[in-house]
Amino acid sequence: MSQKYDMYINGRFEKPSSGQYFDSISPNDGTVVAEVAQGNAHDVDTAVRAAHAARRAWAEMNPLERGKILRKLADLLVENAAHLGKLESDEMGMPSTLSPMIVVESAKFFDYYGGLASSIHGDTIPINAQMFCYNLYEPYGVVGIITPWNGPLNQAARSVAPALAAGNTVVLKPSEFSSLTSLEMARLASQAGMPNGVLNVVTGDGASVGSPLVAHELVRKVAFTGSVKTGQAIGAVAAQKIMPLTLELGGKSPNIVFEDANLEAAVPMVLMGFILNSGQICTSGTRILVQRTIFDSFSAKIAAAAEKFPMGRDRPFPTLGPIANQVQFEKILGFFESARQEGATCLTGGDRAAGGGLEHGLYIKPTIFTNVTSEMRVVREEIFGPVGVLIPFDTEEEAIRIANDTEYGLASGIWTQDVSRAHRVAAQLEAGTVYVNTYHERAIEAPMGGYKKSGIGREKGMASLHDYMQLKNVTMKLI
Ligand code: NAD
Repeated sequence: MSQKYDMYINGRFEKPSSGQYFDSISPNDGTVVAEVAQGNAHDVDTAVRAAHAARRAWAEMNPLERGKILRKLADLLVENAAHLGKLESDEMGMPSTLSPMIVVESAKFFDYYGGLASSIHGDTIPINAQMFCYNLYEPYGVVGIITPWNGPLNQAARSVAPALAAGNTVVLKPSEFSSLTSLEMARLASQAGMPNGVLNVVTGDGASVGSPLVAHELVRKVAFTGSVKTGQAIGAVAAQKIMPLTLELGGKSPNIVFEDANLEAAVPMVLMGFILNSGQICTSGTRILVQRTIFDSFSAKIAAAAEKFPMGRDRPFPTLGPIANQVQFEKILGFFESARQEGATCLTGGDRAAGGGLEHGLYIKPTIFTNVTSEMRVVREEIFGPVGVLIPFDTEEEAIRIANDTEYGLASGIWTQDVSRAHRVAAQLEAGTVYVNTYHERAIEAPMGGYKKSGIGREKGMASLHDYMQLKNVTMKLI
């Protein structure tokens, strides 16, 4: 029998007021992993009021103590990495050999921001001898955090840790496709000594839980990771409330391979750039721009590497797991259909994977399209699967023009051994992250976020901490 998960409010598990639960289905084999509480606006209100009641004591706690609790939570997450990794792998299909590593990475956010909590301090502004003028960095109060399903614990930790370190309290709504590790994180937070009400988790879908959370009058800031469409809907509500937002949205990131690139390093990493986590990463480098002089040889090499890439959830990493849910799986197959109809050539993949038991899960072969045009859907739209397109270019200027020909601007990659060219091109790419001779480096200290429709604000690094604080200036006349 599957386990039942209630919501986590005010330091304990609480049944949903509706009495209803929904099934969390494994993409590995279609089994029910758990029954999860279906929250509603009433549950959101209860959680927000608990967070509101807890906010002053948490904000006024000695920051070193606050940081200690966060760092203790980091330790507990690491201690429980095997269990949490299994939950994440069962619920969203991440390879079982990768998910515990991602739990350990998620824990680092609490270590990092826990360490920074006691370094948050204001500054003084010299005006003249009669004036004392200073700035204070204050928390907002209750922060609503809404996450997607593709890296559940990682995305939750990435926003929750800086929000709490800055002295806010949090109501977290994980994706309805992957709720379990967020609930476990909240339970471990209590175990780490976090006061009741500081971190609450309300589970359920966007309409029942996400919308009322964003609209709640006591929620003073929202950090959202997800699609552009939902980001726009949240933005419209925030505009009415005049509420600050962090939006981490989608991408269609370019990865540019120049003819002087070290191909031995480039081929496997460019492939990994769009198939890691079965391509379900917002920063995936899905538009692969290759200089024409090496286009044919690069295409052959990357297709060969894609074809022999191991698949299966329980194999040693690197391996490709299934797509996280049926909706996303169907969406990817729909893109294959549209690519064929629009005249693209499928160099490799282009179908679900079968054989060796893979047919029981939602597996998609690593897929590469060539002969694409800039109008095709596979070139313009985020697919969120292990799918890349190869696009030839002749000059540096042309590469930059094609790279920037997108409404998104999340990440980008450059492969070259010419240092001057690397800096020249990096300066002109319209993206919040530029990787040079690497991809998917995941340093938590480095800020990430979107240009253009990929988002507003930054997650990770010091920049994120500042996004969870509001600035107060005090100017005093010394009379
Ligand atoms: P989604 O926008 O459908 O859902 C994200 C979250 O928002 C879920 O928890 C969902 O329940 C909730 N939600 C849905 N409607 C809502 C509403 N009206 N109000 C409030 N909340 C609502 O996205 P998804 O399909 O879960 O995730 C995939 C998308 O996330 C992709 O576009 C991907 O690029 C993006 N993503 C971005 C990043 C990043 O850091 N930039 C990271 C991971 C994923």
